[in-house]
Amino acid sequence: MNSKRNIYNNIVVLGGSESGVGAALLASKHGVDVFVSDAGKIKPDYSSTLLNYKIPFEELGHTFNRILEADLVIKSPGIPDSAAVVQLVKHSKPVISEIEYASWFTDAKIVGITGSNGKTTTTLLTGHILKSEGLDVCIAGNVGQSFAGQLADADHDLFVLELSSFQLDDIVDFRPDIAVITNITPDHLDRYDYDFSKYAESKMRITMNQQKEDALVYCADDAETLNQLKKHSIKAKKYPFSLKPLSEAACAFTEGEKLSINIYNNPLTMTLEELALQGKHNTYNSLAAGISARLINIRKETVRQSLSDYQNIAHRLEFVANVHGVSYYNDSKATNVNSTWYALEHFDRPIIWIAGGVDKGNDYSSLLPLIRQKVKAIICLGTDNITLHKVFSEFVDTIVDVDSAEQAAAVASILAAKNDIVLLSPACASFDLFENFEERGNKFKAAVKSL
Ligand code: ADP
Repeated sequence: MNSKRNIYNNIVVLGGSESGVGAALLASKHGVDVFVSDAGKIKPDYSSTLLNYKIPFEELGHTFNRILEADLVIKSPGIPDSAAVVQLVKHSKPVISEIEYASWFTDAKIVGITGSNGKTTTTLLTGHILKSEGLDVCIAGNVGQSFAGQLADADHDLFVLELSSFQLDDIVDFRPDIAVITNITPDHLDRYDYDFSKYAESKMRITMNQQKEDALVYCADDAETLNQLKKHSIKAKKYPFSLKPLSEAACAFTEGEKLSINIYNNPLTMTLEELALQGKHNTYNSLAAGISARLINIRKETVRQSLSDYQNIAHRLEFVANVHGVSYYNDSKATNVNSTWYALEHFDRPIIWIAGGVDKGNDYSSLLPLIRQKVKAIICLGTDNITLHKVFSEFVDTIVDVDSAEQAAAVASILAAKNDIVLLSPACASFDLFENFEERGNKFKAAVKSL
């Protein structure tokens, strides 16, 4: 455990949501004075938890004088560095993330998973393999409950953590035993001065404290990851994975229809057909989860079985229904260009593509070959669709604007012919028309089912 846990006795947590409330609970459990401050309204679930545990808080604004009394500030990942309150404190006191704080309270083995796409899938898949082996493992971080919140409940032997770049931005000593970078492609550029290299640097922080006995699992087919690996001196032992045969002694790859995970000179092989998660992007995720599990000495049989029986979560290239010969897919979680690329790439039939929402500084050029080849029509589901029209009108004749998931499904059903695919894979965030990507996906699925 990190001795810093005993140094700070007066903590302010900025942000009263999943990670902020988790951090407050953990601090309070350890007898530390903690105050939660949120510029917005705190959701009732979280405010009642704070009340239950008698943790003082404020909402709808920050009291700067109270915040300046703290000896440590824990900042929620949703708050940008540019926020006035962060600027106020960051020169006079340490500002850390909830992930950093939580890591001071456990000696558990940690698998930390970051990347632009595939984090949740790889995290849940890794957790599934470890649980299938019967280990005491807890899945936390950016998926489900916060790391600190889970630790406030109980410690475990192992944590599998999904880590966003925002969570990594404010780590200091956090050091996962196994770090996984699924890929690095543009996303969230609005938080990184529209500078891809700043965002990529933030992903690399996952390995910055690792030592030679730790492992870094990464995708050897991802250009930006390779570029970053050249720039940094990495202490951890590197374990690449790829959809092409690799020659490294310890690695994971596919060759033809076979997948191979080689650790400790004891290769595990299985066919791609056996994988529960189909599609190239998911093969990457299976390789990453499989190699991480083997690094924890999980038996080959458990890894093979778990990669085959894993049940995928909703909103990731999820089949919804076949209506009059048209197949509808919900990929609402595709909130950036790269994830949509994999969705478009996956199908070999004509596609009616439903896209749009909040564009985080997208460059759509990588999609153009797939659009030309496969997309018959685009349905723009967003409040501002100007960019989509500008970029794609040269290549696609039919581009229609809608402002609800119901309209999107209805228009798609008119435009689609038998055997076509209707694909909701927005490449954008959902906040203009929906609460979140789950609401967007659920409304779409309900609309398709009532067609
Ligand atoms: P994240 O947690 O990083 O957002 P998810 O596992 O939730 O990742 O998947 C988000 C989107 O990205 C989905 O549309 C999914 O189909 C797609 N996706 C999943 N894994 C990958 C991958 N390895 N590369 C590219 N896209 C992926």
